[in-house]
Amino acid sequence: MAIVEVIIVPIGSFPISEAALVTDVLGERFPEGVRFRLLPSRLHVPLTLFDWSRAQYRAGEVALHLAGSLGILDPPRILALGLSEADAFVEGLNFVFGVALPTAGAAVVFSRRLYARDRNLYLERLIKESMHEVGHLLGLDHCPNPRCVMSFSNSIHDVDRKEAAFCEACLTKLEDYISRLGRSLGSR
Ligand SMILES: [Zn+2]
Ligand SMILES: [Zn+2]
Repeated sequence: MAIVEVIIVPIGSFPISEAALVTDVLGERFPEGVRFRLLPSRLHVPLTLFDWSRAQYRAGEVALHLAGSLGILDPPRILALGLSEADAFVEGLNFVFGVALPTAGAAVVFSRRLYARDRNLYLERLIKESMHEVGHLLGLDHCPNPRCVMSFSNSIHDVDRKEAAFCEACLTKLEDYISRLGRSLGSR
């Protein structure tokens, strides 16, 4: 039985086939108790969330828009990961690969800066950043282990250096978090 459900949401023109791949692979890489489901429709983000002077979306506002539009999120039980082809930023950073707002239950990965001519490389980056943002939604912080998927990525080199896997410490935290959540739900 699923304790946590994560809804994968294609944003704008994000390819459905890639969103389906993320849904399947994350389902294999997260511990039991976390279920991933692909939303059978797309979300469109209004241009009011676009910063014209920077030609980038405001990442946090896109995540809040995702949470508000779905209307079915119930953190920490029902969460969403949006996938966007756009470029985005948060205040203080030139760009972000993704953003997670655990209290809203929503995260978004922005794939523009993950592109590579090598499609497999691109998909691997997409998987890593998707795992990373969902990890944040499930209570994980940044990890000091540079090979762990929860290590902070300042550049695409950092993304390529880490593995599409949680280190043992993060995996243990994740499993503890899910079993605690399962117990608290069972007793309510
Ligand atoms: Zn992070
Ligand atoms: Zn770790």
